[in-house]
Amino acid sequence: MDKKSIKYVIGVECDKSRQRCSGFACSNAFFEKNDAFSGYGDDTKFLTMTCGGCCGTSLAGYLEHFGKKLHVKTDIKKTEVAVHLASCIVTENRHHDRCPYVDYMKDIIRKNGFENIIEGTFESQVTHELRDKGVYKNYEEVVFNK
Ligand code: SF4
Repeated sequence: MDKKSIKYVIGVECDKSRQRCSGFACSNAFFEKNDAFSGYGDDTKFLTMTCGGCCGTSLAGYLEHFGKKLHVKTDIKKTEVAVHLASCIVTENRHHDRCPYVDYMKDIIRKNGFENIIEGTFESQVTHELRDKGVYKNYEEVVFNK
């Protein structure tokens, strides 16, 4: 995926983590184009949603609604949308280990026509160090700074 071709980025956050988190770090990383958001253009739009709670089924409704609005309100195609599964979903972190429903949610995202799926958003330095020390597991699918 060429990030310069992406016109809309969706950040999907863990609903359970979101109950204890404002989402500031992920949004800030997007607007500063840091971590997993490096490489996007300055005009790229951004929206966050949660998975809706275990096991992520609500994502189907959110993405269906998003797809309809995208079609009616913009000229952006689904192929120009990237969906980031937030770090709170795909990494082991202070909230919990990697979500066991990641593949299930990826299927829902693809079924709704969104093929550009990226694991990771903001990379916490503390979490990074704990991963390096082997305290937290390292999941290779998670890509920061690419
Ligand atoms: S499905 Fe995964 S991401 Fe969603 S609330 Fe449950 S643990 Fe969090």
